[in-house]
Amino acid sequence: MLDKTNAHTHGLVDPFGRKITYLRLSVTDRCDLRCTYCMSEKMTFLPKSDLLDASELEQVAQAFITRGVSKIRITGGEPLVRRNIMDIMERMSGYLGHGLDELTLTTNGTQLVKHAELLAKFGVKRINVSLDSLDPDTFTRITRGGRLNPVLDGITAAQSHGLKIKLNVVVLKRDNLNELPSMIRWAHARDIDVTLIEAMPMGEIEEDRFNQYVPLLGVQSELSKDWTLTRDTYRTGGPSDYWRVKETGGRLGFITPLSNNFCGGCNRVRLTCTGKLFLCLGQNEDADLRAVVRSGGDLDAALLEAIGRKPKAHDFRIDALGQGPAVARHMSMTGG
Ligand code: SAM
Ligand code: SF4
Repeated sequence: MLDKTNAHTHGLVDPFGRKITYLRLSVTDRCDLRCTYCMSEKMTFLPKSDLLDASELEQVAQAFITRGVSKIRITGGEPLVRRNIMDIMERMSGYLGHGLDELTLTTNGTQLVKHAELLAKFGVKRINVSLDSLDPDTFTRITRGGRLNPVLDGITAAQSHGLKIKLNVVVLKRDNLNELPSMIRWAHARDIDVTLIEAMPMGEIEEDRFNQYVPLLGVQSELSKDWTLTRDTYRTGGPSDYWRVKETGGRLGFITPLSNNFCGGCNRVRLTCTGKLFLCLGQNEDADLRAVVRSGGDLDAALLEAIGRKPKAHDFRIDALGQGPAVARHMSMTGG
């Protein structure tokens, strides 16, 4: 049994003085959807033996928690398609109240009906559900074959088990730009916060990203024509800026990596399902923590060395869109 009480007094601080308190942990690169902006149509997936097993994931998570990480988000790929996902959730939940303040999850929602009850049991209080359209045909087109209804049922199931939901919507010029006001109204009427996200140039996809990219500052001013948006001080530890919509009473966030860089307050790092630690979503600096775990090496020393190399900022640029991805790996690989 791992010792869960030996919380370290020295945290992880990067070369720019930013304290790292938030770990995004990808548990699989696989997914039951193929969103056009995230994956290519014919993705090849990793052999299962490349993935960290549940015990290795726990070792890495414990090393981070010991160094002051207080929030872990489980992601992927689609985390709920990993066969032993609830074993992983149960292991992580053991650290809640022992260094870990929050255990959460980002999901496409397709498997929530099956898993919502156990998520709540393992101490998850709020989850992000990614949903880019409420129109069944548009949803199927964006996800290349997915069905909307299981996601809607999943959201209902999660709420019935007391999980607070935030909807993540990637804004896509051709697919959902016109639908945003009705999606926001729909969500706010159900006590669901919404965060709009700019599509980021990660990994080769079939489509030219420049055709789909929409800067969110323009979207915000369009929404402001009909709605009163007032700044909300709410923070989740993530990169979103929040506003309150007076007319709907709900919260609206904007994640603007391209049009308004948010790196100054970065507090997070990402671990891929193969144990590669990426120090920045938009840069290539990494550390192979699987090699450290599998060789019985010093994980704590590896974390300190890696955080000492965290880059100052990502390099996503709007004017570079259409010239190929800023980083070669897909979001489903890094863990969004
Ligand atoms: N499958 C889960 C889901 O869709 O929520 C978790 C993994 S997914 C990679 C995490 C988030 O990344 C989703 O909200 C998705 O919309 C977002 N995402 C994926 N590719 C993206 C891209 N190129 N630009 C912006 N957001 C992206
Ligand atoms: Fe799958 Fe999430 Fe990527 Fe969509 S965004 S393909 S649901 S990993």
